[in-house]
Amino acid sequence: MVRYTYDLHLHSCLSPCGDEDMTPANLVNMAALLGLDIIALTDHNTAGNCRSAIRAGEQAGILVLPGLELCTAEEIHMVCLFSTAEQAEGFAREVHKSLPPIQNRPDIYGRQLLMDAGDGILGEEPLLLVTASGISIDDAPALAAGYGGICYPAHIDRASFSVLSSFGVFPGHLQFPVAEVSRSGNPSALRAAHPALKQVRLIGASDAHYLEDILPPQAGQVMELPERTAAAVLHWLGQGGKP
Ligand SMILES: [Zn+2]
Ligand SMILES: [Zn+2]
Repeated sequence: MVRYTYDLHLHSCLSPCGDEDMTPANLVNMAALLGLDIIALTDHNTAGNCRSAIRAGEQAGILVLPGLELCTAEEIHMVCLFSTAEQAEGFAREVHKSLPPIQNRPDIYGRQLLMDAGDGILGEEPLLLVTASGISIDDAPALAAGYGGICYPAHIDRASFSVLSSFGVFPGHLQFPVAEVSRSGNPSALRAAHPALKQVRLIGASDAHYLEDILPPQAGQVMELPERTAAAVLHWLGQGGKP
């Protein structure tokens, strides 16, 4: 087993709120520079830049998992991760079908840039990506599993767009093996306050939207794997328990 540092929640310039400097190449190289071994690209409701990020990762020697940050019908954010770009894109197509037909207003929300693995712009996503999808938190895990992926609650300690801010309690009946806590959050305090988190692996992530928000890994951002592959990461996440 080898210890790997990770950050499984990063946004690129395809997220309207993501800085335009967050090109796949830039964010991958910044993560590599900071000593991260494994990252995931999780733009809001889209996997459009994942293929380019994976390619940039291959050049930088860092493993990039394709994924997205789903906004559920309840306005809860969920990190959804997959082994391959094809799987992530298939899931993203389901998400897109359920988004309200609201066009992005780049002057208000920011551009949604599709990029290649260099710094070339391929186009702009016209549909506004930061709206709530039609997929409920109850249905999201099975839908992600149908594409070979895993789906778990993002930044559960946050005051908005989180499972705890929406429900007040952690939904133990949904049996999430893992949940994400913000870097400023306190996993021990959360476990003490929410008994349903007892068997849930709590992981840290930066949720970076700007290059300067990608930070060196903390103690809670290390996983032990037999090999550095996306499949091994998904297996580790699916095991649950304390890190
Ligand atoms: Zn979020
Ligand atoms: Zn996010």
